[in-house]
Amino acid sequence: MYGITVTYARNANWEAELKLSMVHLELASCTRWAVIQLANAHGLQITDLEVLVAGRFSDEELVASRAKWEAQVQAQISSRRPNRNDQCPCLSGKKFKICHGQR
Ligand SMILES: [Zn+2]
Repeated sequence: MYGITVTYARNANWEAELKLSMVHLELASCTRWAVIQLANAHGLQITDLEVLVAGRFSDEELVASRAKWEAQVQAQISSRRPNRNDQCPCLSGKKFKICHGQR
């Protein structure tokens, strides 16, 4: 399974986008995750492209990105709690009731 992120992020934000995509790759059990940087919102000119595979970043490098993603998932759950049988918003592919919806 593959995933994709399209972003306008540059420099440090590009690096942060790569790490967040790596977290998504792991959660969704993807083998590859393409991160595509576009020049701007007005066209499809690609200015950078990286295809992520497992091991691209160390666990230590991903600590902050994992925490950031977890915070976003929690915020989403508190603003609108998914139904028990919906897919969990964390991208695990599991039903909410057996993932973040467990009590
Ligand atoms: Zn979850």
